[in-house]
Amino acid sequence: MKRILLSISAIAALTAIVSAQSVTVFEGGRVVVGDGQVIDNASVVVTGDRITQVAPAASIKAPAGATRVSLSGKTLMPAIVDTHVHTSTTAPELENDLKQRAHFGVSAALSMGLDGTDAPFARRATTTPGLARLFLAGRGITAPEKGRTEVPFWITTPEEGRKAVQENAAKNVDIIKIWVDDRDGKFPKLTPPLYSAVIDEAHRNKLRVTAHIFSLEDARGLLKAGVDSFAHGIRDRDMDDEAAALLKARPNFVLIPNMPDRGVVADYSWLKGHIPDGEVQKIQAAATDRPQVAATWAIQARNLKRMSDAGVKITVGTDGNTPWAPHVEMADMVAAGMTPAQVIVSATRNGAEFLRIANTGTIANGMIADLIVLDANPIENITNTRKINAVYLRGAAVPR
Ligand SMILES: [Zn+2]
Repeated sequence: MKRILLSISAIAALTAIVSAQSVTVFEGGRVVVGDGQVIDNASVVVTGDRITQVAPAASIKAPAGATRVSLSGKTLMPAIVDTHVHTSTTAPELENDLKQRAHFGVSAALSMGLDGTDAPFARRATTTPGLARLFLAGRGITAPEKGRTEVPFWITTPEEGRKAVQENAAKNVDIIKIWVDDRDGKFPKLTPPLYSAVIDEAHRNKLRVTAHIFSLEDARGLLKAGVDSFAHGIRDRDMDDEAAALLKARPNFVLIPNMPDRGVVADYSWLKGHIPDGEVQKIQAAATDRPQVAATWAIQARNLKRMSDAGVKITVGTDGNTPWAPHVEMADMVAAGMTPAQVIVSATRNGAEFLRIANTGTIANGMIADLIVLDANPIENITNTRKINAVYLRGAAVPR
């Protein structure tokens, strides 16, 4: 057996590193914990990358040499976890994707099944200051969809489904993604025997399965087959009592509502200065009243509200590669009938739990300091999550 012997000078050097850990004290503001609690006039001490104290402002005195950040009139909340994205597939693009996400207060994102190159896996294995962390579903699994992306596994037999799961398991993916959607009748979709085999094989490999769904019927079938999460809400009609009962029997099930375009006029001026002006103009011009789009949105809104009221675990996911999208999604979830407090729990603690990121998602002793300083209170108005004053990832301020 080898022993590592440390000289006195090495021990002294290590001690110096530990004691030189930077201390930041966020003083005297509103703390939205991420678990539903809000603490007024609190202070938060961050030592290195960890939260080491959360207490009433009066009881905390900043140690000598600490960086002091005034939270007067401000709100501190945990950074956001986006549980449904599709990031780029090359190293430099990925770095930019995750830098942009950090800018908008996102600490981690789950890329959902279109990752067929090595770069995302290399990126996932690395934690870089100033970048959000990446989580992966590798190559998702679907029925042959000729003309669409060929990155996912196209399966037609249960054996092919099991093999696809095994290949993803070998790459240690964070979750298995499946698509169960005939895309308006244009393609075959995974049948119950196919998705049941995938779910069974995933569970044998200690992996969970999240399903892109469209119809209530498929939602019911997937729940019966033991699916762990929906990557979208039920979109074709209002959910029924049978689906509600199936969900009730599954307390660990996670819904990523991923609301579609709301189809109403919206103000995107908050993006000015954060993305190129031309892009803001394009987005603003597209945000018009479209009653048919709004009617589609309303079905999903009612289903989200019903699931939220029933206590289903909900996270925030945005689909695509838009780093600021969580701020729109959170407002959409409130428009659907969830409270801002519920939506923030979805965006923080629930997302971190779903991605199984240890010690993140809330503001409490021992948690990793992934934090957003806001200039206004998001519990009063969810769009205040857009008023970002500063972002801290793993205790370090993100340059922005
Ligand atoms: Zn997606």
